[in-house]
Amino acid sequence: MKTKISENTLELVTGDITEQTTEAIVNAANGSLLGGGGVDGAIHRAAGRALLDECKKVRAETLSGEELRAGEAVITKGHDLPAEWVIHTVGPVWTGGSDKEEEKLANCYRNALKLAMENNVKSISFPSISTGVYRFPIEQAAVIALQTVVDFLEEHPFGYAAFILFSDHDYRIYEAAMNRILQEE
Ligand code: ADP
Repeated sequence: MKTKISENTLELVTGDITEQTTEAIVNAANGSLLGGGGVDGAIHRAAGRALLDECKKVRAETLSGEELRAGEAVITKGHDLPAEWVIHTVGPVWTGGSDKEEEKLANCYRNALKLAMENNVKSISFPSISTGVYRFPIEQAAVIALQTVVDFLEEHPFGYAAFILFSDHDYRIYEAAMNRILQEE
């Protein structure tokens, strides 16, 4: 599914984010930036050891050794990936909705797009942040993810943004959410 948002294009596709050829892909990282399971593990495997080394450097230097907090984003090179850049953001762990999970999830998308623009990136691929191991209900996460990206694209000349959904099931949920958002626009 492909939609024009102002001058920009927003697309929903099923696929593997490690294979995307957008200038940047977004990683649903954990705060340590040292890799993990799910999409994070897949990105590190495909990018190679040099990504881990760069993440360690970012952690030590940019973050003064601290963990990256939920909703924040940092950028590295893509190394062995087809994408030139990886933007790492940490999604919130779902604990029932009372720990500002919605706001933190929206910040992930907004901060990733801001960082992309600061680095002159004009095309970006997102995974479905927080809806795997972090257990954010996907119907709710899809609306927040899409509304945040649509709002950003309405306000900024960006280029191309895609959501890479890892299953047909996830794709259909994002597609339904997108159709509802477009009806309300
Ligand atoms: P989180 O910890 O933020 O929940 P996960 O990696 O567990 O992150 O899951 C986030 C989403 O990424 C899930 O929908 C999962 O199915 C999906 N995913 C896993 N591997 C890939 C991949 N290679 N490409 C795109 N999406 C993926």
